[in-house]
Amino acid sequence: MATANIRGITYSDLESFLMGLGEKRFRAEQIFRWIHRPIQTFDEMTDVNKKLRQQFTEFFNLDLPALKTVQISRDGTRKYLFLTQDDQSFEAVYIPEVASGSNTHTLCVSSQTGCSVGCSFCFTASIRHYRNLSAAEIIGQVHVAMMDIAKAGAGSIKNIVFMGMGEPLLNYDQVLTACRILIDTRGLSFSPKRVTVSTAGIVPNLIRLGHDCPVQIALSLHAGSDEVRSQIVPINRKWGVTALIQALKNYPIRHKQKFIIEYVLLKGINDSVEEARRLAHLLRGVPCKINLLPLNAHERTAHQTPAHDVAVRFQNELRKAGYLVFVRTARGQDISAACGQLGGSHAKTQTPDTMHQEALLDVSVSINKGKESWPFAENKLLNVLP
Ligand code: SAH
Ligand code: SF4
Repeated sequence: MATANIRGITYSDLESFLMGLGEKRFRAEQIFRWIHRPIQTFDEMTDVNKKLRQQFTEFFNLDLPALKTVQISRDGTRKYLFLTQDDQSFEAVYIPEVASGSNTHTLCVSSQTGCSVGCSFCFTASIRHYRNLSAAEIIGQVHVAMMDIAKAGAGSIKNIVFMGMGEPLLNYDQVLTACRILIDTRGLSFSPKRVTVSTAGIVPNLIRLGHDCPVQIALSLHAGSDEVRSQIVPINRKWGVTALIQALKNYPIRHKQKFIIEYVLLKGINDSVEEARRLAHLLRGVPCKINLLPLNAHERTAHQTPAHDVAVRFQNELRKAGYLVFVRTARGQDISAACGQLGGSHAKTQTPDTMHQEALLDVSVSINKGKESWPFAENKLLNVLP
């Protein structure tokens, strides 16, 4: 019988399973804690009796996603490449906050092995064959990274952001399950404020998430008008900026909570003072902080990164309008680990000096198919959206 991966089970489902076996309720807490420690076999659950451990092996496994490589950037960023049994690949990135000396280290996880949203500036958009990751594969990224970071003495994860490969709200059920596991105080116990779901704006599922789980929301807005946004985020033709902003205004946020607005700056496309003013107007009444991300360039986009002073001018315009706004410095660019550069084994990465290999992946997937990255996805996508 095929077994289920226990890393993707919520506390309440584990409890129901154990009650079904006639076990006492407290067992669930004991076992849930074990699942989220660095163990790889049920036998490591030393205070659980042998019979129960045996029963677990009949129904469940503790498989971790197969780690192919860990690349370490000059700035300390660590990129993990995983390969699934069905030959799909995905990445997670650990970003230690070294400069500020703060302890807000972040793990960026993937929710899919590619993405159908088709943003014109994103590498992940160019991957045609992809699938949703399971909750166990999402939590597995966290477990593997935790083990690696502990071994390397490289700090510990304080934030989880769904800013890796894929659109989390197009994999709603598995992402919701993973979020519930991440914030469960009996296991990994991340603060809901420190688990961020980043979305290009799948409005119906954004509304659902507001009712289902109190995590932080980042909206990838990238424009202050439909005219500009529809050019670069094709999904905007389905849910335009008015619908997005309305969804934020109705969102059940916590006291003092702010949304994160992400804005990739693209030279000559959305970086003008006029667009900054439109953005300021659009966001009026939305509690938010704005992150400006100058484009991280890669070979599958025709866009260009604006000069630094253009980013600063854009920032100043928003500041004048009263917004909290930051220009983000890209991390891990030397190993293609920055936002929008992730592509699993599809990505061409430079070989960093510090790469250490669990096994060498055959990076044979052709990546030189020209700059055909984005429009192909949009028609297919618009037919299947919720
Ligand atoms: N699909 C989700 C989450 C993954 S993308 C989303 O779009 O929000 C995570 C972030 O990286 C998004 O804000 C996205 O707009 C940004 N991003 C994508 N490509 C980028 C690039 N080339 N340079 C900078 N940021 C990029
Ligand atoms: Fe998908 Fe996000 Fe990339 Fe857009 S930016 S293609 S939504 S992963």
